[in-house]
Amino acid sequence: MATDPDTGGEPEHVGECEECGRVYPVQVDNDGDLRPIGTSGTCVCGSAAFVALSPD
Ligand SMILES: [Zn+2]
Repeated sequence: MATDPDTGGEPEHVGECEECGRVYPVQVDNDGDLRPIGTSGTCVCGSAAFVALSPD
């Protein structure tokens, strides 16, 4: 079983950028904010606001 020692937080989710609608795999940080994985923490459009999408 793989573990994720970096966060210890919520497992991976999917989030949508509020500005441009781009969808990223995201992690939930300790403040409850969504952070896109594989970026510096913001969308390519510059927005840092993401809305969690349900798995459905
Ligand atoms: Zn965006």
